[in-house]
Parts: sequence; structure tokens; C-alpha cells
Amino acid sequence: MVVEEAERCCVVLVPSPFQGHITPMLQLAFVLYAKGFSIVINHPELNPPDSSKHPEFTFLPLKDGMSNSDPSFLNLFDIIPERNMNGRVPFHDYLVEMMEKPEIYGRISCIVYDHLMYLTTEVADHLKLPTILLRVSSCAYMEAACTFFQLKADNYFPMPESQLLIQCQKYLPSAIIWNTIENLENQALSWFQQHDRVPIFTIGPLHKITSSLHMSLAEQDTSCISWIDTQAPNSVLYVSLGSIVVMDKEEFVETAWGLFNSNQLFLWVVRPSATEHDLPIEAVGDRGHIVKWAPQKEVLAHPAVGGFWSHCCWNSTLESILEGVPMICRPCFGDQNVNAILDSCMEGRP
Ligand code: UDP
Repeated sequence: MVVEEAERCCVVLVPSPFQGHITPMLQLAFVLYAKGFSIVINHPELNPPDSSKHPEFTFLPLKDGMSNSDPSFLNLFDIIPERNMNGRVPFHDYLVEMMEKPEIYGRISCIVYDHLMYLTTEVADHLKLPTILLRVSSCAYMEAACTFFQLKADNYFPMPESQLLIQCQKYLPSAIIWNTIENLENQALSWFQQHDRVPIFTIGPLHKITSSLHMSLAEQDTSCISWIDTQAPNSVLYVSLGSIVVMDKEEFVETAWGLFNSNQLFLWVVRPSATEHDLPIEAVGDRGHIVKWAPQKEVLAHPAVGGFWSHCCWNSTLESILEGVPMICRPCFGDQNVNAILDSCMEGRP
């Protein structure tokens, strides 16, 4: 598509290949598009967003030689350095092409990137393009992580090198955008305002600003909404551990029997990657409904849903808080543990 207005500016967005990271990046893309920017998404080949659902944007796959597969089978700490290594040259070449053809893409005003895509700053710096970091985790988590890194640097706290490799990248952005709520995280935000030398902006919760948009990489099974429609207010427990967490067999079977025997109505998301464990599906009866992927925001907004058994990753946490749905926290890794503590601190607050 040829850009009609000669002065139209373009923002290039670089998401990482995970649902919880792609969603806020696409939501931000819509916010910027509504402000008049043309949008180019330089997306991963692994787990790509469906470009046909977003005809407003230009999608350019970052050719990093990694095939498409369920991210729950992958080791995050292995694939991220590889992606960053492989993606440098193609990303550089895309940017050069875009800069040479402003009549097609618009003039690049900045690149917004996910912190896992740290190749961005090196390439952008070389081409003298400004970058903005979009933070898709909670501010409280990053404050805790930075404190750990300092303890590690001071030799107080051991941490695997592979994790440090990703988390300790030095960022050189012009600004940082947090998908968070100022009133919820004002303490952690002021910590960053004191420690980071770049402007910090909060924009969250993005899912409320762009509430009508569907960002799912997997197909949503909407049959569960008809099932919830038949239930009484606050009677259903929604159970989902997001797009990456995989329970081991023992926990999976215990969870299944715990739900089946609880006399509690439940809607449980069991992704295909979890079904290698035998699910005693015949034991579900009328009390439960199981889907491979749910329209989660719609589910949490439904009056029949009274609780959320969650892994507490940041998108799910924000979505639950904004609908006022209390959570049963089952954090597994990354920011989930800190978010679970944040959730329990909020318990009882208005
Ligand atoms: N989600 C969904 N359907 C599901 C499970 C999750 O639409 O069955 C969405 C959820 O609304 C959230 C995202 O997937 O926006 C998951 O992101 P989160 O940060 O909570 O967890 P992650 O998948 O990164 O572990």
C-alpha cells in the first residue's frame, strides 16, 4: 500500500514470539495507528500473528530460521539468544529497505520493541533510529529482577548465566512504555523513575483501551460462553495457566480430580500440549466445561464467573483485576511469582 500523505510517519514494532508478549504489542500498534502512524510489524516466524485479521498493518516476518511450533515445547532461554543472533541481518535489511522507500512505508519515526528482542537496539543504533522499549511484565517484577541482578553482581546471589544473558541486556531506548496501571504500581514505577535515565510512560491496561480487538494466536472456543450463560452469577471458577506453562503429569491429574470432585462449577482451559497426559474426561459431568483455548477477556467479564485459578502472568493478572475477579494463584516462573504476591497484597483493598 502506497502511503498517500507524504509526511506520514511509521512505527516499526518488534514483538517476541509469545502470546503474552504479542498481545500488548498489537494493542499498542492499534493505539498508534489510531493516532495516525502507519504500522509495520516485524514479527517472529515462530508463532506469527494472523496478518489477515489486521489488514491495517504491514507484516514483515523476521527471517530467523526458526520454525513454527507450540512455544510450550521450547526452552525460552535457548531460543531467545538464537533468535536475536539470527534475526540481526534480516532486521537490518528490512529497515534499510524501509528507509529507502518512505513512499511505501512512511518515514520511520521510531522502533518499539519487546525486551526479549534485544537485537533491535544494536541494529537501530547503527542506523541512527530511536527505539522505545515496551515492557509487557509488571513493574514490580522488574524492580525485583533488578534487585536480584545487583545482588548477583555483588556476589550475594547465584543465578544461572543463561537467565542473566537475557535479563541483563543493557537497553539504550529513548523511552520506556509500561503496560501497567499507575495507581496499582506507583511504588515500583517511582523506583524506575529514579533509577532509569529515560522517560517512562504508563499506558495500561492496553486491553481496555483496545477492548474490541481479538489478538489470539490460537482459535478461541466460544462454546464455553453459551455454557457459562446458563450458570448462576459468581458460580463458575475459570481455570487457565496461559499459553506457555505446562503442568507435569502428577499435577495435571491431581488438578483434574480436584476439580471433578470439588462440586464446583468450572471452565478449564487445557491446551493441546497438555493432553499428552490422560484426561479422565468422562468424569467431568455437567459441572465442568473444558476447552483448548477460551475467549478469556469475555469469560472474565461474564457475571457467572466468580473466580480465576491463574498462573498470574501479567496479561491475565491485569485482565482479572480489571474485571474484579478474585484469583487463586498458581505461579510457575518469571514474573508470575511476583505478580502473585502483588495480587495477595491487593486482597481486601477496594
Ligand atoms: N488467553 C486467551 N485464552 C485462553 C488463555 C489465555 O485468550 O484460553 C489470553 C489471555 O487473555 C492473555 C494471554 O492469552 O491475554 C496470556 O497472557 P499472559 O501474560 O496472561 O500469560 P502467558 O501466556 O504469557 O503465560
